Amino acid sequence: MDNNKIIDGKLIASELRQKIKLLGLDFIKSANFKPGLAVVLVGENPASQIYVKNKIAQTKEVGFESYEYKFSENVSESELLELIDKLNKDASINGILVQLPLPKHVDSIKVLDMISSQKDVDGFHAINVGKLWSGLDSLVPCTPLGCSILIKKALGNISGANAVVIGRSDIVGKPMSSLLLRANATVTIVHSRTRDIESICSKADILVAAVGVAQMVKGNWIKKGSTVIDVGINRLDLGGKKKLVGDVDFESAVNVAGKITPVPGGVGPMTIACLLLNTLNAARSQRNMSAIQLDSLF
Ligand code: NAP
Repeated sequence: MDNNKIIDGKLIASELRQKIKLLGLDFIKSANFKPGLAVVLVGENPASQIYVKNKIAQTKEVGFESYEYKFSENVSESELLELIDKLNKDASINGILVQLPLPKHVDSIKVLDMISSQKDVDGFHAINVGKLWSGLDSLVPCTPLGCSILIKKALGNISGANAVVIGRSDIVGKPMSSLLLRANATVTIVHSRTRDIESICSKADILVAAVGVAQMVKGNWIKKGSTVIDVGINRLDLGGKKKLVGDVDFESAVNVAGKITPVPGGVGPMTIACLLLNTLNAARSQRNMSAIQLDSLF
């Protein structure tokens, strides 16, 4: 395998965290205040617990304040809404993240919409979604933001490139498409009702797979030399042995793609790094400072 083809998300995320730490120090010096991120975790979901643990550790590593709020599975919706209201008003908190999924008896949309759009470091609030699609500065969902950085690192200018995004979720597919459009790519979104996905994918210079179907995208779907970004995280059980795979069949795709992200070690590490970037940008915007431009990060 040609190692030059691999987009090393682990390395790029670690460089990004270093940069955020330095920019954070500048901010702390000028504002005399540490950016603060509040993370809300409900229940005992093991994957959520791991994500939250990593988020807290990395928040502290870059020198920001981390605040954790843990609730049992049977917490009421009103208790959560009360907490969000309190965090919205608390000047020491710049970013609020509610770890999903929430239990079924809680209306997730109601809880997420309660978060002040200025502290919405996940970028899910309707105001931030609207700003993103309008090309205005906003807090952008972390995973697609991380993918954009990987694409920028791999390709530089993507103006005029054909980009295909598989998946239209609010968390990944739609914001990813918006970011690619903003970078002047020609964007096609495909989903579960799309006819002949393979032939659409085969025209893509940039292919982003955010489907949740293990190894769905095969090497023969991919245009030779294209850039493939695999967002998928799927756990396979191979006769008792667990394996993490993406939405792309890496073994066949790596032979055709020009550049490709592995799973694990591709998009995954970028998500938390971008959460930290959003936290810093939220803190800056709450002090009327401009957002850090992606170009200044490289
Ligand atoms: P999601 O909300 O389930 O959305 C999946 C999308 O894929 C939907 O738009 C769906 O189409 C489409 N789809 C499903 N089956 C399809 C098929 N056979 N052909 C074409 N399209 C199909 O998932 P998500 O939240 O976007 O996440 C996608 C993947 O990314 C998952 O594996 C998730 O674990 C992973 N993920 C990773 C990170 C990270 O940090 N690396 C973060 C978030 C998510 P319809 O809209 O028509 O149903």
